Amino acid sequence: MADEKPKIRIATCSLAGCFGCHTSLLDIDERLFDLMEMVEFDRTPFTDIKHCGPCDIGIVEGGVSNAENARVLKEFRENCNVLVAIGSCAITGNVPALRNNIDLWDCFQEVYLYDSGTEGKQIPNDPELPLPFDKVYPIYEVVKVDYFLHGCPPPADAIWRFLTALIQGREPEIGYESLRYD
Ligand code: SF4
Repeated sequence: MADEKPKIRIATCSLAGCFGCHTSLLDIDERLFDLMEMVEFDRTPFTDIKHCGPCDIGIVEGGVSNAENARVLKEFRENCNVLVAIGSCAITGNVPALRNNIDLWDCFQEVYLYDSGTEGKQIPNDPELPLPFDKVYPIYEVVKVDYFLHGCPPPADAIWRFLTALIQGREPEIGYESLRYD
């Protein structure tokens, strides 16, 4: 029996994001079967693997808003040969970064003490909660990033074209018509 070609190993994570970029990946629909012929997943929201091991491709959704985000991102950079920032949150901070011009303590008070729907009226202070940063950072400000896939989220077709190019060892080329910023 001929030796099977080893599959490309991929890890994905969501930092300060909404999982919309992961949902867009799932929107490749039946092409997921083709994808699974070519790759195996390491740490992702689709598996229960807690830490990123050695991988060919790491895909990061979301910006860096706290110490846990930074730890996960650095773990991805250390273990992934190619690191991809997917979506506007990872690339610019996007919606989570709207808080960057507001004092962090004012943000907490608005959300946990003043918002009318809040019950209990207490700012969470469990020591196990990750340390929040004063700002939300795009991931390239924390680690080196090899590729940027724009969009909020990038359309499924763009993700498919981008991923298959990387998997096949080609330089990804995403046409303007495949990207949107709405
Ligand atoms: Fe969600 Fe858009 Fe951010 Fe992706 S880029 S995580 S879809 S808000």
